[in-house]
Amino acid sequence: MSIKENMEKVKQNIATAALKVGKKPEDIILVMATKTVDVNRIREAIQAGGNIIGENKIQEALKKYQELKDEKVEWHFIGHLQSNKAKDALKFANMIHSVDRLPLVEKLDHRLMQEGRSLDILIQVNTSYEESKYGVEPEKAVSLIKEVSKYDTLNIRGLMTIGLFTRDEVKIRKCFKVLKKLFDNIVQEGIDKVQMNYLSMGMTNDYQIAIEEGSNMVRIGTAIFGARNTPDAYYWPSEKTDS
Ligand SMILES: *Cc1c(COP(=O)(O)O)cnc(C)c1O
Repeated sequence: MSIKENMEKVKQNIATAALKVGKKPEDIILVMATKTVDVNRIREAIQAGGNIIGENKIQEALKKYQELKDEKVEWHFIGHLQSNKAKDALKFANMIHSVDRLPLVEKLDHRLMQEGRSLDILIQVNTSYEESKYGVEPEKAVSLIKEVSKYDTLNIRGLMTIGLFTRDEVKIRKCFKVLKKLFDNIVQEGIDKVQMNYLSMGMTNDYQIAIEEGSNMVRIGTAIFGARNTPDAYYWPSEKTDS
């Protein structure tokens, strides 16, 4: 199937899942996960209606950002962000989904202060409790969010998670329920300057489930562009080497 056909299929599935839980199809934001995808194929997806690009690696993103300068799209950074790359992420990102620790926040804040602007971010939560996944533990999320909210340069707009990689739907749903509950609790708590607009969860294998569990932002790669050759381990390093 062509990228255009894939895109139509994904949009249909998003609509079906949204309607099932009483949401409008347009309430669900589609982020195209474009790691390893070349710019020509990304352009095809843009022509098919995609308007948000989500990249995982800074070097790859910067290169594509240059090449796609003429396209009217938003750029999201969805991969693990090393603190020493924070400055480079700010060269292209309209939103960062993967903020999960204070040293990174300090780096982003420092640079944003110099540039005299603010940035929309999501807090990444490790709902699967896998050692290899980045993200703050659910139990520590509220206190991290309170700390991050003190930085005027960072606008917390919601939460992000990567669900458990398994065929067991019950376990997948459990991750998403954890994030939705946390989301609702934070709304309830009404933390100053913290907005809970976006719940970024759901990928090719689980986006319909994620929408049923309350997601309003899905990040989809394979279902749009086909299978990748590069192993995902390259994009999700199992070693937590960065502070
Ligand atoms: C690759 C990636 C996705 C999309 O994965 P697919 O299974 O190809 O849809 C979503 N989120 C993140 C953080 C990713 O790295």
